[in-house]
Amino acid sequence: MERCDVVVVGGGHNALVGAAYLAQAGLSVLVLERLDVTGGAAVSERVFPGVDARLSRYSYLVSLLPDQIIRDLGLTLDLRSRAVASYTPVVRDGTHRGLLVERDPGPATAESFRALTGSDREYAAWQSFYADLAELARVVAPTMMEPLRPASQLRSQLERTGVRTWDGFVDRPLGEIVERTFADDMVRGVALTDAVIGTFSHAQDPSLRQNRCFLYHLIGNGTGEWRVPVGGMGAVTAEFSRAARAAGARLLTGAEVVKVAADGRDAEVTYVADGEERTVSAAYVLSGVAPVTLSRLRGGSPHGVEAPEGAQVKVNLLLTRLPRLRSGADPRQAFAGTFHVDEGYADLQKAYDEAESGTLPTRLPGELYCHTLTDPTILSPDLVRAGWHTLTLFGLHTPARLFEQDNTAVRDKAAQGYLAGLNAYLDEPIEDCLALDQNGRLCLEVKSPLDVEASVGMPGGHIFHGDLAWPWAESPEDVGRWGVETDIPNLFICGSGARRGGAVSGIGGHNAAQAVLARWR
Ligand SMILES: Cc1cc2nc3c(=O)[nH]c(=O)nc-3n(C[C@H](O)[C@H](O)[C@H](O)COP(=O)(O)OP(=O)(O)OC[C@H]3O[C@@H](n4cnc5c(N)ncnc54)[C@H](O)[C@@H]3O)c2cc1C
Repeated sequence: MERCDVVVVGGGHNALVGAAYLAQAGLSVLVLERLDVTGGAAVSERVFPGVDARLSRYSYLVSLLPDQIIRDLGLTLDLRSRAVASYTPVVRDGTHRGLLVERDPGPATAESFRALTGSDREYAAWQSFYADLAELARVVAPTMMEPLRPASQLRSQLERTGVRTWDGFVDRPLGEIVERTFADDMVRGVALTDAVIGTFSHAQDPSLRQNRCFLYHLIGNGTGEWRVPVGGMGAVTAEFSRAARAAGARLLTGAEVVKVAADGRDAEVTYVADGEERTVSAAYVLSGVAPVTLSRLRGGSPHGVEAPEGAQVKVNLLLTRLPRLRSGADPRQAFAGTFHVDEGYADLQKAYDEAESGTLPTRLPGELYCHTLTDPTILSPDLVRAGWHTLTLFGLHTPARLFEQDNTAVRDKAAQGYLAGLNAYLDEPIEDCLALDQNGRLCLEVKSPLDVEASVGMPGGHIFHGDLAWPWAESPEDVGRWGVETDIPNLFICGSGARRGGAVSGIGGHNAAQAVLARWR
């Protein structure tokens, strides 16, 4: 039987990061990936037949990837800032307007708040809210690649900076601080959306799922900035793969793991490749698949893991031109950042309530952004010259359960709903701007949570493999651990399901590798 020091189950970006660290430390590492390519949900693909456009098919922006990982692994990555943070089209008193938030808010942002809300109050509240969050990010981000600390330590550190909002961001439902801070429904909604991206939750959810999701969206690298990976998400994964291989890790694609057995001292991983079943033994196993998938591979017992449920629809569009806006804003500015559609505070609550009661929301909240305004390199030079653009729509509040009866019909209905929502703010229907592929079909791809599960194996289509956990120790026993441990001492979680592993960050991979190395030495 083949033997190596560490077997990594799954070849998502986190698995690649874990493999790279371990191989750099001199361990023999084998990565087993079911699909023909590595990267999981962090990949670029030519989605539309005959069209040379490599879209970030699932994940598209990078915030949580620490600079330290880029340095440690010697990665060459170009992560580019967007000039605009967000633009929100709004109809007030029958007039189409918009709320612009620049990346570095200046007079244009201030003027936009004033025009929408009638005073400077909301803008001042916005600045102080995000200044407090920036302090929280500065406290939490540097700890993400260290053993877990107690929450009390981080809280004291934050309070030493003079910020007193720990309770509002962490201990109480986020809706309370949002409602206390902002008066305008749209401003409240724009603030709340970071709490419900990839997380089916609402402002007053007592589970505080929304607070955890919010925190992850705002602490990345200590700034919370979401940057555009030049070359698309596939370029990021390609660098992780290169680093893992260069350090000596073996990456095997087309290798589906069917069984994981570990007893604390030794482990065996069985996989199928080229129609043949093989078993490899190892001292350690890292699992880059979702915790619920790992449970199944260990023999089906749930091991206390809940089945996750995703709640998003991803729509990929390729356009021959950007659409004009009814507000008169320049689409090159409006779509350069996050373009919010029907994400007012009341809109979000209503959509949540409808979805929770089992129906597709009547107005579907979602957000878009145009990759090619910041990085045209994902298009062929001909398409760039012709003025083509990509648009990505991340639709909220569409839990997997809504699609179970008839995925095709509900997916189509959801896509129509999201596009109708967008069209309400456009001067021309988005459909008129869509490109055609070589077969004359519209360049429009829609992925429900069930489609995400079927293609990249995220259970329930949950983009983080399960609800996010606080990025610190939640019990005294967790202090000093890496947040990657399982009930078996030589089996660790390196994927999104690790504490602090969610999103495209590599943190799960880094932390699982450190847990192995701490025992290896
Ligand atoms: C639509 C969408 C949009 C998103 N947008 C963003 C974004 O903009 N920014 C961001 O930071 N995050 C985003 N995310 C979340 C992010 O993509 C994930 O959190 C991240 O990719 C998880 O990486 P991972 O390596 O932990 O796992 P995955 O990417 O899930 O990789 C797991 C790998 O394991 C493989 N696998 C599964 N079962 C087996 C098996 N039995 N044997 C072998 N291999 C197996 C899978 O094929 C897959 O390659 C998005 C996700 C989705 C779906």
